Amino acid sequence: MSKTILITGSTSGIGLAIAKAFAAQGYNIAFNGLEANGAEIAQQVADEFNIKHTFSPANMLQPEAIRTLVADAISTFGGLDVLVNNAGIQYVAPIDQFPEQKWNDIIAINLTAAFHATKAAWGTMKEKGFGRIINIASAHGLRASEFKSAYVAAKHGIVGFTKTMALEGAPFGITCNAICPGYVETPIVKNQIADQMKAHGMSEQEVLEKVILARHAVKQFIPVELIAQTAIFMASDIAATFTGVAMPVDAGWTAQ
Ligand code: NAD
Repeated sequence: MSKTILITGSTSGIGLAIAKAFAAQGYNIAFNGLEANGAEIAQQVADEFNIKHTFSPANMLQPEAIRTLVADAISTFGGLDVLVNNAGIQYVAPIDQFPEQKWNDIIAINLTAAFHATKAAWGTMKEKGFGRIINIASAHGLRASEFKSAYVAAKHGIVGFTKTMALEGAPFGITCNAICPGYVETPIVKNQIADQMKAHGMSEQEVLEKVILARHAVKQFIPVELIAQTAIFMASDIAATFTGVAMPVDAGWTAQ
């Protein structure tokens, strides 16, 4: 029987790349995301790889919607093997100008939603004696940057949550790890270039060179496929003792 994966925010960027990599391995996929054409994107992946799938636009701001998303995936596919807490947003502004609503939304989507999804998935994984939970944190879960207060707080928070989940999951065959990517060229990064231009008073080229790729020892964006293959490794049977790790995939950023 095929294994099942639920990936939040999987109709764009990193989440979509993870979905494609698991689809190539024959997983059933529960897609989620707020893209207007999310249902079509999910259908395309399912058609290309001939897998079973569901799509839900459940909003990570709404705990009840998250619980329903997880419960529906479990009832449709008869269980849940892998949960990827990936959905995330960003906002860039100095602390004294940072809108309170943006702070609340970033903490809710990038951190608290992972708690609700994990709590809802925990019972079925515990019963089965198998579970793989992968949190898409960030190099900003390990390092700070100015003007990203809420994001850095949420990503450090999810790294801490990852470690607690690893300890509590260990007796039940549930592993939990975080992937900490550097800059990956997805909509979340493209959108923040404009914000960074404003916050730093720089041109687009200056932001790329002095803010974004400046952090990478290897002066390139990280391919989404590398993040996806890291998730494949973390979900594999051989990775049963690989848990509680916040793994940088960051072109050498946090080596510095
Ligand atoms: P993206 O904008 O391409 O994808 C984000 C996904 O999250 C989308 O599908 C979006 O619809 C979904 N989403 C956002 N708010 C949501 C909500 N309220 N409810 C449900 N879904 C919601 O960005 P991405 O780069 O693919 O980001 C994915 C994750 O990777 C995020 O957690 C992000 O913080 C993290 N990350 C990205 C980078 C990068 O450089 N791109 C680096 C480190 C970490």
